[in-house]
Amino acid sequence: MELFQIKRATDVMQAIESARRYPDNQPEGASTRFLAGGTTLLDLMKLDVERPTQVIDIHRLPLDRVEAIDGGGVTIGATMRNTDLANHPLIKAHYPVLSQALLSGASAQLRNMATTGGNLMQRTRCVYFRDTATPCNKREPGSGCSAIDGFNRNLAILGTSDHCIATNPSDMNVAMTALEATVHVESTQGKRSIAIDDFFLLPGTTPERETALNPGELITHVTLPAPTPGSRSVYLKLRDRASYEFALASAAVVATVSSGRIEHIRIALGGVGVKPWRSREAEASLLGRAPDATTFQAAAEVALRLARPQSQNGFKVELAMRCLQHTLKLATQTA
Ligand SMILES: Cc1cc2nc3c(=O)[nH]c(=O)nc-3n(C[C@H](O)[C@H](O)[C@H](O)COP(=O)(O)OP(=O)(O)OC[C@H]3O[C@@H](n4cnc5c(N)ncnc54)[C@H](O)[C@@H]3O)c2cc1C
Ligand code: SF4
Repeated sequence: MELFQIKRATDVMQAIESARRYPDNQPEGASTRFLAGGTTLLDLMKLDVERPTQVIDIHRLPLDRVEAIDGGGVTIGATMRNTDLANHPLIKAHYPVLSQALLSGASAQLRNMATTGGNLMQRTRCVYFRDTATPCNKREPGSGCSAIDGFNRNLAILGTSDHCIATNPSDMNVAMTALEATVHVESTQGKRSIAIDDFFLLPGTTPERETALNPGELITHVTLPAPTPGSRSVYLKLRDRASYEFALASAAVVATVSSGRIEHIRIALGGVGVKPWRSREAEASLLGRAPDATTFQAAAEVALRLARPQSQNGFKVELAMRCLQHTLKLATQTA
C-alpha cells in the first residue's frame, strides 16, 4: 500500500474543500478518494489497485438519513448504511425492490458498514482488475483486457466493448435504476443532479471512466420519485450460492397492472450488463399487454436481443431471460 494522507470531514463543505486540493487526473497522478464504509476502497488500496494521495473519511457526515419528500418520494443520504436503508419503514413499505436488492448483497457485516454512496461507486469484481500483475484497460488504460481471452464467466454480455467486458456488480444499483433514482452530487463548483441511467457510463474506449462523477465531486444523496399508485416491485437474484455472492443474473421490476393489462413497467437487469441495465425496449413490449407467460418470454427475448456472450458466459443469456420472466410474473401477480 502507498503512503497517503487521511483527513476526517465532519461536514460536506469541509469534505469538498479538502477534495479540491488533490482532484483526480492531475498530470502528476495525485488523487483523492472519499472513504465511507471502506468495504471496497480499503481492499483495493491493499491490492495497490487504488493508490490515492489523499483519503477523506466521510463516514461521520450528517448524511445518514432517509426522509420523505413533500409531495411524494424519498431522499436517501449518501452515508446511510445499507442495512439501515433496507430496513427503513419507508423503503420497506414503498420501495420493496430496493430493500430486497440490498438484503441480497454481501453479508450482514458488510451491509452494516457499506453506504449508499459507496455502493453506487463500488468497482467491478473482474479478477484481472484486482490483479496488478495482469493487463487491464480499466486499471491501466491502454494495457489490454485480460478477460476477453481469459476468465470471463462472471462478466458482462450487454454493453461491452473491445476494451472492457466488466460487469457492474451492485444489486442496489439495479433496483435504483428500475426506480428511476436521481444521484445528487456537490463540489466546490456547485451542485448537480444526475439521472441514474446517465450516472453509469458504457466502457467504450475509456473503461477507466465508470461514472459521470467529476474529480472532487461528492455524492450527497439519492432521491427516488413517488411510487406509482398500485405498483408492485420485486428484485430477484440468481448466483452460484445462496448468500454472500454476486449476481450472475438479476432483475428488478416495478409494475402496475390495471384491468388485466400492464399499465406501468420499469425493468433493470443486473449481473449481465457493464452498467445496471435498463431495458426500455422490453418495457415497451409489455405496455398495454396482458401479464402472461407468452408476453414475458417475448419481453425477455427483447431485453437480451443485443447480448454478446464471451467464451465462458453464454449461459447468462438464458439465465437472464428466465430471471426476468420469473420476476415479471412475481411483480404482476395481483394480491
Ligand atoms: C466479500 C464481499 C462481498 C460483496 N458482495 C456484494 C453483493 O453480493 N452485492 C453487492 O451489491 N455488493 C457486494 N459487495 C460490495 C459492497 O456492497 C460494497 O463494497 C459497498 O457497497 C461499498 O460501500 P462502502 O461505503 O463500503 O464504500 P467505500 O469502500 O468506502 O468506497 C467505495 C468507493 O466509493 C467512493 N465513495 C464512497 N462514498 C462516496 C460519496 N459519498 N461520494 C463519492 N464517492 C464515494 C469511494 O471513494 C470509493 O472509491 C461485496 C463486498 C465484499 C467485500
Ligand atoms: S474486463 Fe475490464 S476490468 Fe476486466 S480485465 Fe478487461 S478491461 Fe480490465
